[in-house]
This record gives sequence, structure tokens and C-alpha cells, in this order.
Amino acid sequence: MDHFLYRDGVLHAEDVPLAEIARAVGTPFYCYSTATLTRHFRLFDEALDGMEHLVCYAMKAASNQAILRTLAGLGAGMDVVSGGEYMRARAAGVPGERIVFSGVGKTRDEMRLALEGGIRQFNVESEPEMRALSEVAASLGVVAPITVRVNPDVDAKTHAKIATGKSENKFGIPISRASAVYAEAAALPGLEVIGIDVHIGSQLTELEPFRQAYQKVADLTEELRAEGHDIRRLDLGGGLGIPYTRSNEAPPLPTEYGALIRETLGHLGCEIEIEPGRLVAGNAGILVSEVIYVKEGEGRDFLILDAAMNDLIRPAMYDAHHDIVPVVEPAPGVEQTPYDVVGPVCESGDTFARGRMLPPLAEGELVAFRSAGAYGAVMSSEYNTRPLIPEVLVNGREFAVIRARPTFDEMINRDTIPEWL
Ligand SMILES: *Cc1c(COP(=O)(O)O)cnc(C)c1O
Repeated sequence: MDHFLYRDGVLHAEDVPLAEIARAVGTPFYCYSTATLTRHFRLFDEALDGMEHLVCYAMKAASNQAILRTLAGLGAGMDVVSGGEYMRARAAGVPGERIVFSGVGKTRDEMRLALEGGIRQFNVESEPEMRALSEVAASLGVVAPITVRVNPDVDAKTHAKIATGKSENKFGIPISRASAVYAEAAALPGLEVIGIDVHIGSQLTELEPFRQAYQKVADLTEELRAEGHDIRRLDLGGGLGIPYTRSNEAPPLPTEYGALIRETLGHLGCEIEIEPGRLVAGNAGILVSEVIYVKEGEGRDFLILDAAMNDLIRPAMYDAHHDIVPVVEPAPGVEQTPYDVVGPVCESGDTFARGRMLPPLAEGELVAFRSAGAYGAVMSSEYNTRPLIPEVLVNGREFAVIRARPTFDEMINRDTIPEWL
């Protein structure tokens, strides 16, 4: 459920008509709903009620300071995957003890940054990383709390580019080697082993892969405890999928996911962490764009928008589907026609949808891409020297620009000219 609904014939974000935001900031722009972000975070938090837990929002999904502040205010921790994200989380007021550091290639500088600034735990993904972290921590005279990310070799049944829990993926250590890796970790002077981490992929639409992974984590917990490790925290990753179309079958709900966690891991008495990103932010954001031209093609027309693949790369990168809806509600029963929906960038890959059935649209009309809140703005670029598009946050009847569109001068002046030119 989200808070982007038609009211009086116009698509609204909560209580604000999108046309009003378009007039104020220009198109294209991202628009997020505070009520939806709040609702989704609380669904996870409540799903783990009764178990000691922390929901660490995977901020790589959408990392604007205003979004982080909104979630931090609800008690969210953060899952970060770079030094930059760590600094962003801190700048948004998230204390170090609520930040977990994930990622397969943490540098020593990033480790130092987090150890000096304060960190809840590192989710370590390899033996070389483990040794490096121990050295960095020891050189600072501190001990780094760690979990080891295990790769449970389960098929997450999701798009290949976002599956992370099979043995051929680069993530984590094979679960079969966990015992040896934990033994080495326990012997390293700069580390304190506190738990186990697992994250098997993104946009999972079934619970079964989670069940398989979590059962393996439960078994591993008992095994490692028997070997003398004090396993007291389980980080279960993120990955619960969202409905990208309103017709397709609904992915599991956070309540069902919470029940699965209780069932597979509840008896172990561990503190539970989860790291949802997409489900918190995905349906809490849309991308609003204007039709520049309607160009006649053979068999179908091209809807040329002012948004492009540099603003929303998911269709080009993951063959992702986004529902596209007109901002002005179509009259009931209006006949739909097929459009190829494209952007202005000089690449054939700059195609959002082919043969998409839409009500007739004309130049100057606004459309909204639904479910664009996660892995949208954060993956955007300035390819073709197209300015990063603004982000807007709505809260009831209020809205605010939370990232402004840069001017051309601002973009150009980021370059510097060497002396010899
Ligand atoms: C990307 C990522 C997540 C979030 O995944 P979602 O599908 O957005 O919920 C969580 N944990 C780790 C380690 C990740 O890399």
C-alpha cells in the first residue's frame, strides 16, 4: 500500500497534487511519501515485536538525508556499504551503535572511519577482509565487533544481477567453511565475534529461499556455539520484494516474514537484525516526468519523455518493469494504445517500456513511474550532461525539495582545467 492515489481526477502524493509539485520544481523529479516510508518501516518493526531486534534500513536503496532522518526518527538503524554511506548516516543523526557496515570490499580507510566514529558491527565477507580489519582495529587500540557473512548456497529465485546467496556469487564465505573461518576470527586480536550475517538477494517474491537460508543459519548457530563462540546476534539481511505491478501476485508481507524468522530462529534467543531497503523505500517513491513529444512509429507510437535512463536505470539494467500512469486520471473506459516509452538519451537502451498500453497522451502531459523510490535516485547519473533530478519529500499537505536540481554552471564548474590548457 502506498499514498499515491487519484483524488479529484489528479494523482496525489498524500495530500499534495503532483501537478502542483511539477509547477514548483519542474520535471522530471522524484517524489517520496513520508506516510509510506513510515508505514513500511513500522511493518518490519512490528513484525519482530517480542524479539530483541533492530531494523537497519539498507540505505543504498534511497539515501537522501531527509529520508534517513525520517526513518532514524522512527528508531531505524542503518545498513551501510561504503564510507560515504557511513558519513551520510552519521550526518542524518544516526549514532554509530545503530550502524552496521556491510559490503564485500571495505577498504582500510573505511574501516578506520567507522571504528573511530563508532559502529555497531562489521559484517565481514572474507578472510582477507577479516585479517585487515583486525589489523586496523589493533592499530587503533580497539576491538571490532563482527559477524561473518555466510553464503548459504540457496537460490533466491530473483534476477541474476541481484541474487547474492548462491556459491557462484561474490558475497560471503561458503557456509561449509564457516567453522574454520570463525575459529580464525576468534583468534585474531582485533576482532570480537558476536554473530552471523546472511543476505541472499533482493526482490525476493517467495519466503521459501529465506526459510532455507535461515534454517542453515539456525544450524550454524548451534554448531558455532558448540565450538565455543558466543553467537548472540543474527543479521538476516534484506531482500523482501515489492509488487511492481498491481496485477502480479503479491510478495509475502513483512508480518509473514517476521513469523518465519520467529519460527526458524526464535528459539535461539539471539538479537535479530534485518536490513530491508527496497520494501521500505520502493513504493514510497515515484518519478514524475513530462511528455516532450509523441512520435509516430511503425505499429506503435513513441512516447518521448523528459526522464531518461540516467534518471531511472532499472529498466535498462534489470529489465525492470515500472507501472506508468498519467498524472491526470484517465476517463473511465478510455481506449488504451500501445506506446514505446523512451527517454532522450542517445542509447537504444534508454527505453522504459515497449508496447505499453496507456491512455492517449499528448505533449506537455505528466506521467508517473510507480515504485521508483528504491534504487532510483541513488543510481542516477549525469550522463548526457543531464542534471541530477530533484528529490521532493511530501508530508501530509506539505512538500519540500530535499535535493535541488543543479544548474548547468554548477555541473560544468565541477570540472577543473589543467594549467597547460
Ligand atoms: C542491498 C542489500 C540489502 C537491501 O536489500 P533490499 O532488497 O533492498 O531489501 C540488505 N543487505 C545487504 C548486505 C545488501 O547488500
